[in-house]
Amino acid sequence: MHDMSTAEKAYEELRKEMRETSTLASIGSLLGWDEHTYMPPGGAENRANQSSLIARMVHERATASKIGEWLATIESSDLVGDPHSDIGANVREWRRGYDRATKIPSSLIEELSRTEVLAQQAWAEARKESSFPKFSPWLKKIVALKKQEAECVGYAEHIYDALLDPYEPDERASNLRQVFEGLRKPLVDLIGRIASSGKKAPIELTERAYAVSGQDKLSRMGATAIGFNFNNGRLDTSVHPFCSEPGPGDVRITTRYDEHHFGDAFFGVLHETGHALYEQGLPREYAGQPIGTSRSLGIHESQSRMWENLVGRSRSFWQHFLPKAKEVFGETMRDITLDQWYFAINDVRPSFIRVEADEATYNLHILLRFELEQVLLTDDLSVDDLPSAWNERMQKYLGIAPPNDAQGCLQDIHWSGGSIGYFPTYTLGNLYAAQFFEAARKDLGDLDAQFARGEFSPLLQWLREKIHRHGQRYSARELVKHATGSELSAKPLLDHLNRRASELYGV
Ligand code: MG
Repeated sequence: MHDMSTAEKAYEELRKEMRETSTLASIGSLLGWDEHTYMPPGGAENRANQSSLIARMVHERATASKIGEWLATIESSDLVGDPHSDIGANVREWRRGYDRATKIPSSLIEELSRTEVLAQQAWAEARKESSFPKFSPWLKKIVALKKQEAECVGYAEHIYDALLDPYEPDERASNLRQVFEGLRKPLVDLIGRIASSGKKAPIELTERAYAVSGQDKLSRMGATAIGFNFNNGRLDTSVHPFCSEPGPGDVRITTRYDEHHFGDAFFGVLHETGHALYEQGLPREYAGQPIGTSRSLGIHESQSRMWENLVGRSRSFWQHFLPKAKEVFGETMRDITLDQWYFAINDVRPSFIRVEADEATYNLHILLRFELEQVLLTDDLSVDDLPSAWNERMQKYLGIAPPNDAQGCLQDIHWSGGSIGYFPTYTLGNLYAAQFFEAARKDLGDLDAQFARGEFSPLLQWLREKIHRHGQRYSARELVKHATGSELSAKPLLDHLNRRASELYGV
């Protein structure tokens, strides 16, 4: 009989322990889903206790010294010789998580989470009153604590890298700066050309009275058509749409309905379905292991943005779907032509609020935040000067300045919750999406003809093969390289936006 080596035994122990920790975390995820969908308001206090208990248990298990011992034993063996093997990739990613979790002292973690709760309350008040001075002392505290966190975990080049890492592992601020630079000027130019084209999308077509029951029906048809498996998932309603993954075989998405804004629910559902398809495509046999877990926030967002924008806002998608929408909504849509509808759902115009921004202007909102986060961390910008720096950039990039801070630097929840380094993953998602889509088009031939026939499974199978099934086996950079043959580039996204603008605005 073959004797298991010490390293093999350590790996088995580690895998079992991590599997249980991941099951525990999935209970927390289910509690979170319920909190945002069906929990009565009176349950809030007990739910907070339940959630923080689970979070503490997960953290204690993840930072236990035996994890470090097992990792060290395995790492000193030849089990990890191939970094892309099951064991090699799992151990690399477990090490990443363990180091980060243990390098930050628990006193700092506690101070951060206490500060974040209070800062979020202060932010909500400040936004309501559009009063930046009410939030600025808290933001100063958050920035100081996040700098401490970055120093504890360490970084190779820039302090920003340490805060980017938990969201987009191995990515560097220097690389993002370079790629985003290539995006900025062409985008500002494109948006300027669109504005001076004199053409306006007929958005009023999407603002007619679309009954909520019809929106729900059509959204479910859309999700099903692109591959969402309702046997392994649900669609419910919440204030802020999200996708949550209570575990293998159970992926839940939410949306919200606005009778006079068709796009909120329909494109929101396509977006969340994109996230869900990624989760439903992860290899189930590796559940609870990094190689069975999504790669990064940027890669996740690429899946949602692809189905929402590159597929869902394409002309060919609506060749197939407009007749169905007309059946559902009857009189409300009877007079709408495909060309009018295609233009209406691809309106491009500068606006103040990121989450309401169109596909072209959206990235400038992100570039602005990415730039400001970096100078806040290096003390090249003081928190007190943030509103004016924000407004200046809005004017420069989008040609508009917000009338108040509620519609300016107070609009997002992220910073109050300590999420500095998160924003770039949105634009990374758009960049990855366009680059993947271009490669898929090369491999699969005429995607538009397929969409027009209601065939979306070739694209989904391509994504399963190139991205979903790998989990965290490869870095995001390697995934992009393998799937598309090139490094991350701004060109596919710019090409896509320019093509659409030329079709619709003639610029
Ligand atoms: Mg998303």
